[in-house]
Amino acid sequence: MKISFPRMGYSYIALKWLVENIGHECIVPPEPSKRTLDLGVRYSPEFACIPFKILMGTYLEVAEMGAEVILTSGGRGPCRAGYYWVMHNYILEEIGIDARVIAFEPPLDDLKGFFKTLRWIRKTGGISVKEMLGVLKVTWEKLKAIDDVEMRSHEIRPLEIHRGDTTRTLWKGLEMLDQANTLEEIEEARREGLKLLESIPRDDSRDPLKIGIIGEIYVVLEPAANHYIQIMLGEMGVQTDRSIYLSAYTRNNTIVNLEGDIFSMARPYLNEAPIGGHGVNSIGETVLYAQHGFDGVVQLAPFACIPEIVAKGILPSVSRDYGIPVLTLFIDEQTGKAGVQTRLEAFVDLLQRRREQKAKMERLVI
Ligand code: SF4
Repeated sequence: MKISFPRMGYSYIALKWLVENIGHECIVPPEPSKRTLDLGVRYSPEFACIPFKILMGTYLEVAEMGAEVILTSGGRGPCRAGYYWVMHNYILEEIGIDARVIAFEPPLDDLKGFFKTLRWIRKTGGISVKEMLGVLKVTWEKLKAIDDVEMRSHEIRPLEIHRGDTTRTLWKGLEMLDQANTLEEIEEARREGLKLLESIPRDDSRDPLKIGIIGEIYVVLEPAANHYIQIMLGEMGVQTDRSIYLSAYTRNNTIVNLEGDIFSMARPYLNEAPIGGHGVNSIGETVLYAQHGFDGVVQLAPFACIPEIVAKGILPSVSRDYGIPVLTLFIDEQTGKAGVQTRLEAFVDLLQRRREQKAKMERLVI
């Protein structure tokens, strides 16, 4: 069977390996482009949020490439993300495309359904349960290694002496991870990728500004959807920390995860039932970034995304209480790279001046 999936950051490298090793052919989703967005906009409801439109475009592109099944995640909660796959299926059917979207619902909500889908994929691929477990383990290790290499690249980029070195090395590291097929090979590629990053000529005397990236999961994870914001900021000399990494859900390797319960951080500001998406997370994560001495926070919000709109309404209070500036970037099909860059440059200028003023005040007090 020809299987594809939504593209979210660099996780496609691990997911491609997974699909190919459970006995199916993988149709790798291309990086979202202008064509992807144009296709998505043409076939989506006008007021659908941008992740829905990009995914619609991606599904049409992978269907053209021959995908028969598109695997995705379901979900529950007040926002519409959990129904995306149902709507995408309706639209594909309506325009006469044969590919079908199949969703994994969260196991805690529907354990039986989750395992039923997993069993179906395993059986159609013709592999045993033991083989499947082995493949899942390797996939997970690959995902973790990809995140480790990417995370380190965001720390090194603002220190690089030759612009672009870090990004080129990151691609090299990801390529090595793509070629790795066993747990040993993955570990070796991970170590080699990190070693290459460490060998980049850099200026350790710099003290880069630190910005936390928060917001809705799709636009935070997919660089093509956020105009490569982390690379852009890194090349402006800013160190970024992203609140979401796929592998971080089970490990304590990010600032957000280290602190555990971000919901308790958000509670003083939003003591309500869940508002869906990552709205509550955005509030709690801003508190955490402030507590960890970050200079600012950028919130990435799809246009018309209710959870992020609610968070945006509350963030000025968090910003005031913790003294941390927050910039919200709404993203839709009209958002251009130049516009994002201009707003980020102005924000970085403001943070730099704040830092200098703070240092001046401290000197005066002494
Ligand atoms: S979280 Fe926001 S962007 Fe994502 S599906 Fe919900 S409303 Fe849309």
